[in-house]
Amino acid sequence: MELGKQIHAYFKDNSQVEIVKLGHHGIRSNIPGDDISEFYRHGKRTLVVGIRKGLKFQSCKPSAHYQLPLLSGCIGQCEYCYLNTNLGDKPYMRGNVNVEESWNRLENT
Ligand code: SF4
Repeated sequence: MELGKQIHAYFKDNSQVEIVKLGHHGIRSNIPGDDISEFYRHGKRTLVVGIRKGLKFQSCKPSAHYQLPLLSGCIGQCEYCYLNTNLGDKPYMRGNVNVEESWNRLENT
């Protein structure tokens, strides 16, 4: 995926960014921390770049018919966030680089 290569090229020479290559499993276990506040802090600083396998769109009523599955998570750290309970104890961001497939799926939905 070209977008994945561009993201890798952007970060690979940044000494403050650790790049870890993983298979389909092991994301959560690679986010470090000894307690819930460290899990949260490291999770909020983690970007997972992946390929979305299932292209079925999740419904998102009543605000929208469907959720476009390009990104999930949030880098924000708002104290009032009610989504924190949905993001788990390691709330990482995920970007799916197979954008073309999602667009094609969208056009046929
Ligand atoms: S309220 Fe929650 S989802 Fe919204 S920007 Fe803040 S942390 Fe992110």
